[in-house]
Amino acid sequence: MGVSIEYRLDGQEVERERFLREVEDHVRALAIDQLREKVERIRCLRHHQTAKLRQLSLTSEGLEIRLAGCCDDLVECVLRELG
Ligand SMILES: [Zn+2]
Repeated sequence: MGVSIEYRLDGQEVERERFLREVEDHVRALAIDQLREKVERIRCLRHHQTAKLRQLSLTSEGLEIRLAGCCDDLVECVLRELG
């Protein structure tokens, strides 16, 4: 008898590929949420406004971020913070 592994999502059995894809999406969504939180915590020293994450997507080439802020200083500060 071999070892059988069941992949389940919300109690439903799914194929391995689907399972892995969903997990990846989940991890990605979590990472994006965390990043958004981090971005929106940063406040401009001059205008006391927070930066807004307009768009964030993960592409095969890496992370793509669009920021909106009250001034370039803030945007730069955020980018520095995200490293
Ligand atoms: Zn500012």
